[in-house]
Amino acid sequence: MQSNAVTQTENLTAAIQRIDANHHWHPFTDTAALNSKGARVIVRGEGVYVWDSEGNRIIDGMAGLWCVNMGYGRKELIDAAKQQLDELPYYNHFFQTTTTPAAVLAQEIASVTPGDLNHIFFANSGSEAVDTLIRMIRHYWAVEGKPEKNVLIGRKNAYHGSTIGGTSLGGMGAMHKQGGPYLPNIEHIDQPYWYGEAGDLDEEAFGLKAARALEEKILEVGPEKVAAFIGEPIQGAGGVIVPPASYWPEIQRICRKYDILLAADEVICGFGRTGSWFGSQTFGIEPDLMSMAKGLSSGYMPISAVAVGDRVANCLIEKGGEFFHGFTYSGHPVAAAVAVANIRLMKQEKVVDYVADDIGPYFQQQLRAVLADQPLTGHIEGAGLVAGIALVKDREAKQFFADEGTVGTLCRDHCFENGLIMRAVGDRMVLSPPLVISRKEVDELCAKVRKCFDLTLDSVRTQGL
Ligand code: PMP
Repeated sequence: MQSNAVTQTENLTAAIQRIDANHHWHPFTDTAALNSKGARVIVRGEGVYVWDSEGNRIIDGMAGLWCVNMGYGRKELIDAAKQQLDELPYYNHFFQTTTTPAAVLAQEIASVTPGDLNHIFFANSGSEAVDTLIRMIRHYWAVEGKPEKNVLIGRKNAYHGSTIGGTSLGGMGAMHKQGGPYLPNIEHIDQPYWYGEAGDLDEEAFGLKAARALEEKILEVGPEKVAAFIGEPIQGAGGVIVPPASYWPEIQRICRKYDILLAADEVICGFGRTGSWFGSQTFGIEPDLMSMAKGLSSGYMPISAVAVGDRVANCLIEKGGEFFHGFTYSGHPVAAAVAVANIRLMKQEKVVDYVADDIGPYFQQQLRAVLADQPLTGHIEGAGLVAGIALVKDREAKQFFADEGTVGTLCRDHCFENGLIMRAVGDRMVLSPPLVISRKEVDELCAKVRKCFDLTLDSVRTQGL
């Protein structure tokens, strides 16, 4: 084992970086590359800002990892955790027992979900919620006497988590190259990426074409074998791909036509991100099941859930017997208490209306205004407080950079150096700030985006990219 003692000459940042490099294996990280420079140590958060161990204030354009929707340092959420820890830090929900926070949270979630999504199954992470979806959907069809109806259809460049189930259902090529083989009976269709993949089609026509790829796949597999279609209302980790308005209603129509369940992965879009409680509402669909996580507790505690509509829930509850599925921490009382406080705070502060009517439109407009004449900016898409920006070599000719990801990474590094957290997905820059961001903070965020794009352009020119 390496020595972890902090030496007298070493400052705190260097000490933490050294210990981190010795023992802490980071998720989704090239560890050798990280350890060669050392991780940035984040020590504190308040509102839409975080501070590093060197005292730098950084505006968090990503709300952590798309999750700190109510901002950092919310006393209401902290107090809810403290109080629950004092009262009952843990109990399970397996032994014919319940706890008040879990029961109340299920009711709170059902009060904001669309349609009849009234039955709530808890897990800890988005990935576990997605795995729950997979098992529940296949089990449903088996209980309905159709065990052969077990093929799930997802999309290329979709992200549904890192477990075997989530990775299988997701359409991330780089992930599929590692750790397989993955689950059988999963198919992927093309994503509805209008700017990058539509050719000459307008948005409306492309949305319909992309949705009809689902019908083609269903007919290829055989409708009697297809259990469900699963998609993120807006693909988040895939680079914030906002489908044309024509896409989701057509997907829903096709699912209904062939009696295929529609599942929405709301892990990013849920809890106000797009200006509705759920992305499904923004796009006018009523899914049969939804997975959610992140914004459910504003990231203060790990908790996720699957909301299930009456059709699936009633069948499984009335005819399914015991569902052999669940986690030690399903509905963990402390996480649930924080999530209850979070949803109540969102209602009290009318945050979803704020995103829909005020700050969301303002953010979308300011971002477009500051980048209007920025040569790297190919296209901006977004809804509410989430946006994706395609970086291009030539915006008129819509020419992408040859080595995808190089310029995005350059840009991300300039952001970090300049007090802005913005994520790069290949050559798409993505933003998803806390929902409580003010207009003044949006102005600051957008000014920093412009500055960092200009610095990136300088680097692109210097390096001849
Ligand atoms: N689904 C979607 C749509 C996500 O964006 C994510 C995480 N970014 C997940 C599932 C997985 O969530 P987790 O990282 O909590 O397992």
